[in-house]
Amino acid sequence: MAFKFCPHCGRQLQIKPVGAGQRLYCDHCRKIQYRNPTVGVAVVLVENDRLLLVRRSGSYAGMWCIPCGHVERGEDVREAARREFEEETGLKVTLGPVFSAHSNFHDPENPTVGIWFWGKKAGGQLRAGSDAAEVGLFSIDDLPEQMAFPTDLMVCEKLKRCLASDDLNHWLASCLAAD
Ligand SMILES: [Zn+2]
Repeated sequence: MAFKFCPHCGRQLQIKPVGAGQRLYCDHCRKIQYRNPTVGVAVVLVENDRLLLVRRSGSYAGMWCIPCGHVERGEDVREAARREFEEETGLKVTLGPVFSAHSNFHDPENPTVGIWFWGKKAGGQLRAGSDAAEVGLFSIDDLPEQMAFPTDLMVCEKLKRCLASDDLNHWLASCLAAD
């Protein structure tokens, strides 16, 4: 939902044409109220050709997703990915390169930009943590039926293509030291 009132002064916002679009604008503060997507982070962890997924218990409860969460204001994007992954799965992770990035439009009120990092297990004990009812490793050919996010499915398709190719290991070996 769009803001109706200026979060700085409380006066009613106006709609103002800016460039090719329309923006919410406060005449008093002379500020545009931008409505940008937030940033989501996810970690792709594969062990023995199986992908780690979590079954959600908060929003989209009962559906499965690649472990993910939101970047907090002031938080480094990689730190956010490691924190969310450990919170949900109990595992510490070393991040490799970005495996994929997509815009998420499945919730039109809350658009996000998602970044999927490649991850390598670095300790901890696998357990379902906050916002997760269950954790499990799945063959890419046998994913749970109820996946929460269409972009996770796009990432899984890419992973499937990569796992079928020897190039993945060479690429990772050259990238994993860069975290
Ligand atoms: Zn204002």
